[in-house]
Amino acid sequence: MTETDDYEHYEAVVVGCGPGGAAAAAALANNGVETLVLERGVDAGSKNVSGGLIYAEESSPYTIDDLFPDFREEATERPTTENYIHNVAGDQVASFDISSLHHNDTEWSDAVLRRNMDSWLAERVHEMTRETGGGLLTEVRVNGLLRENGEIVGVTTSELDPIKADLVVAADGVNSELARDAGLMDWEDPDEWFQGVKAVVEMDPEDINERFGIE
Ligand SMILES: Cc1cc2nc3c(=O)[nH]c(=O)nc-3n(C[C@H](O)[C@H](O)[C@H](O)COP(=O)(O)OP(=O)(O)OC[C@H]3O[C@@H](n4cnc5c(N)ncnc54)[C@H](O)[C@@H]3O)c2cc1C
Repeated sequence: MTETDDYEHYEAVVVGCGPGGAAAAAALANNGVETLVLERGVDAGSKNVSGGLIYAEESSPYTIDDLFPDFREEATERPTTENYIHNVAGDQVASFDISSLHHNDTEWSDAVLRRNMDSWLAERVHEMTRETGGGLLTEVRVNGLLRENGEIVGVTTSELDPIKADLVVAADGVNSELARDAGLMDWEDPDEWFQGVKAVVEMDPEDINERFGIE
């Protein structure tokens, strides 16, 4: 880290430490780039929503377990090999086998709990980026891009002084406010909204094995 105009400067700032930010930060750190990661959540993963399956595609040039050795053993819950949708109506059930759709081109697929997975990734990211002179800071919300003469030179945050960087990676999610601020993404108000609610039910793993006939 260097200081210019009293502001800290890093070679790269990654905003967000979900899987996208973690992968970007790991790739930068592996290439020796001084990288600071800023995450608004108390822990990485505390703000995430996901169905809970992660896939490694055979055609992908790299996979998450390439970037993070031991990922499957330490950050995932269990492998999934079959997928069914069960539609329940009264005392009737219609079941659809969607395994071929889910596992098309898939080397492996594992169930994950995002809070566990993202926290594990965040620890690795912190270790890796610390080696470069950066690190991961949580509970820091990036609230805008820092510009000089119309050029993006860093980020502004709600908690800290502005931070300068040669490269800013907007990994702040699919609706990235930073990408919109940079003019890289449009956001038109949709005509219709769909709201989903997800509940995670804690069960004894042995009960799951018994119900689904898993050894
Ligand atoms: C209902 C649902 C189910 C899904 N199911 C699956 C699934 O089963 N399998 C699958 O692979 N994908 C699934 N997805 C998609 C998956 O969640 C996304 O592709 C993935 O989370 C994108 O990762 P990301 O790192 O780009 O963004 P995110 O996971 O959204 O991470 C963004 C991170 O940036 C942080 N952040 C945001 N704004 C700021 C800011 N201003 N300052 C600092 N930090 C910030 C957030 O706290 C968060 O940690 C699902 C998505 C939804 C909505």
